[in-house]
Amino acid sequence: MKIEEDNVQKKLKNGKQKNEKSGKTNCTLQAPSLPVYDTVKLRIKTERMTARKCDKLRIITTRDTRICNDYLRIIKHNENKVLRNNGTVNKSLLDKLTLTTSKRTNHKLRTTVPHDLKKRYPRCSHDEFIECRDKAIWTYESWKTQQSLTKKELKRPRFKKKTPRIQSINRERFLMIYSPKNTVAKIWLVLRDSLDTKRSGKSNHKKLWLPLALSPYHKQKMKLEKIKTLELVYSPKNQQWWAHFTLQYTVPLYHSTQPPAVLGVDLGIKKTAVAVLLTPSGKVIMDNIKFIVDKERQQQIHKLDYRIKSIQSVLDTRKYNGQPTNQLNVKLYQLRRRLRSVKEQELGYAVNQLVDFILQLKKRYNLFISVGYPGKIQKSHPRGSGNKSLRSSVHKWRFRFFVTKLKQKLALHGFESHRVVVINESWTSKRCSRCDSLNTTRTGQGQFNCHDCSYELDADLNGAKNIGKRLIQYALKPKQGFTKIGDKLSSDYYPITLFKCLAPLGQWLKDSAKNPSTL
Ligand SMILES: [Zn+2]
Repeated sequence: MKIEEDNVQKKLKNGKQKNEKSGKTNCTLQAPSLPVYDTVKLRIKTERMTARKCDKLRIITTRDTRICNDYLRIIKHNENKVLRNNGTVNKSLLDKLTLTTSKRTNHKLRTTVPHDLKKRYPRCSHDEFIECRDKAIWTYESWKTQQSLTKKELKRPRFKKKTPRIQSINRERFLMIYSPKNTVAKIWLVLRDSLDTKRSGKSNHKKLWLPLALSPYHKQKMKLEKIKTLELVYSPKNQQWWAHFTLQYTVPLYHSTQPPAVLGVDLGIKKTAVAVLLTPSGKVIMDNIKFIVDKERQQQIHKLDYRIKSIQSVLDTRKYNGQPTNQLNVKLYQLRRRLRSVKEQELGYAVNQLVDFILQLKKRYNLFISVGYPGKIQKSHPRGSGNKSLRSSVHKWRFRFFVTKLKQKLALHGFESHRVVVINESWTSKRCSRCDSLNTTRTGQGQFNCHDCSYELDADLNGAKNIGKRLIQYALKPKQGFTKIGDKLSSDYYPITLFKCLAPLGQWLKDSAKNPSTL
């Protein structure tokens, strides 16, 4: 049960339950299970609503944005009052500055406050204020932690345009009504405390009924009793309103009594991903290696890259000559978006393939997955405009997308987040995975040669092996003073006790260093 307790603590600390795809809330259950979060996005049928109702949606979100900004400003001006020593915001002290308690008769009345929000927004209910407050505090605290990590002065948070406030079902803020015979919509969202029709003189807030579009795919995905939170989001691109729901399930926790094994995963350019399984038996057999290549999409990416590059060079000359560039800019924007979507498809395909592979392996091994974090960008593959910083950010985006997707998909099968660890990739492509020598070369065809032990194999496979080995080495280090394994991506740190079962694997690693023939 130690694992679960650690997770609970981590979760409480982070406080961003929505983004965390794993964690544990109930320690007393007999069969351990893992909560999994999923989002379902349903379109609001604004074409079946009156103009007045559509207006209300707009008014609610713009007003919420203003309230959130007000909260941020109040926190900024009263930092010495509301901030605790550890940098978090004291909610009750903030309430004392902003909200009157004229309704609660059994409490000591607070009739005047320095910043009376109720006076400024008379049509907003108390619960709505609380939700805006939580959103502002959450944003402020995450800015504060970011600021504490760097020396650079970060810009203060401020909400732009329409910021959705998160509504929780626990406070009965909204209702879902399913009516299969209704001709307008099969599913309705009923918002409480939506704006009053009259400006003042009303104590009861009205309800707002919103019809939602429900496709067969969403119907199968949507489970009304699992809904946790709601966000109303406006998409300016197609001028539509969306209701984003967060659903919470529990799945049985993945627990294995099989021998431990580490799956090293390396993301490449020519091959989308390479995965290799390292086991205590010491032999890497063909069944435990997976090359994921998506040739069709890679050709598409290559073509798009080439077009973007050529348009960029034309654009540069035009700019130099002072000619108009508007049309080219639009074309470039479209192409870049197309490129990004193809890349997403490619990575999605790779994740699906990898998850299938992992599900086969999990029956035979107690699996941990180690993914290499790209510290440096590959100079040999110039992409896009050839801008170095841009290329680096593209590279990181690609990686982040892959790992988040992988963690999400594996969580559905009971994998906890610490089973997928992001490891620093530096030198893994240069080092020989058999004898640790750096006296190596990498040929143009992606072949790896070691000059010390004359080991020859695929270069990406060599990298994947090194990445897997690095996790084992980290897990073995507690004797030398290491107690935690850092996850490069999420900056989470997992206690080494979680990886205790890797010890036999580490012994094999030590033996193989003495006797390279076992690899
Ligand atoms: Zn070697």
